Amino acid sequence: MNNTRIIAEQEWAKKYPEAAKVSEAKLKGSQAIGAFLEWLQDQGIVLSQYHIHTDDCLDLDGRCECGMFETLLYSIHKSPDDLLFEYFGIDRQKYNQEQEAMLEEIREYQKHPCDNITIERSDENG
Ligand SMILES: [Zn+2]
Repeated sequence: MNNTRIIAEQEWAKKYPEAAKVSEAKLKGSQAIGAFLEWLQDQGIVLSQYHIHTDDCLDLDGRCECGMFETLLYSIHKSPDDLLFEYFGIDRQKYNQEQEAMLEEIREYQKHPCDNITIERSDENG
């Protein structure tokens, strides 16, 4: 006996907003971008950015003590995943928490191997 619980995509997205952003990011090509970033890494190509002083760079007398220059490039040490989460505006910690909650919810429902949860995509959002 198949017991399928159908959940509207909007309801699911409201409950798990960061996961919804990840789905949206995949539609926008995040996997291809990630593959490209990994390829850059494999080639030894390192992304860099100019340093911009912040209040944290200054000592109590307002003198810069960070030792960096705003006119020089500094390599950034972020993984392709870190960059993708940042680019798509996804809170990684919240996303991981949502993944656990989601798995827990699915486990809770799937007491029997035939029990399923189906996320139904609405046509409204295309
Ligand atoms: Zn600085």
